[in-house]
Amino acid sequence: MLKFKVGDNIKVTAGKDKGREAKVERLFPKEATLLLPGLNLYKRHVKGMGQEKGGIYEIPRPYPFSKIALICPKCKKVTRVGLRVIGKEKVRICRKCNKEIDTK
Ligand SMILES: [Zn+2]
Repeated sequence: MLKFKVGDNIKVTAGKDKGREAKVERLFPKEATLLLPGLNLYKRHVKGMGQEKGGIYEIPRPYPFSKIALICPKCKKVTRVGLRVIGKEKVRICRKCNKEIDTK
């Protein structure tokens, strides 16, 4: 089970965007990275070819999980994610307030 899900509110804990908050847009479980809209942008210079316009495009680069902390939807604090087994299901819990993060 992954620590993060699409739609989670997170805080960046390292790098140039440290302290910024964002919502997870995409997850790449194999790489253990996730995409945050508008963060970790890098500029790519594209040469104009034929009909296509050249210019500088800003493309978001995925963040490694290690630079991200979850903001608990219950206590609104930055927290680490724990796992708890309830019956046959694993649920994510907040290590700060011990509440389940995902409510159905
Ligand atoms: Zn909490």
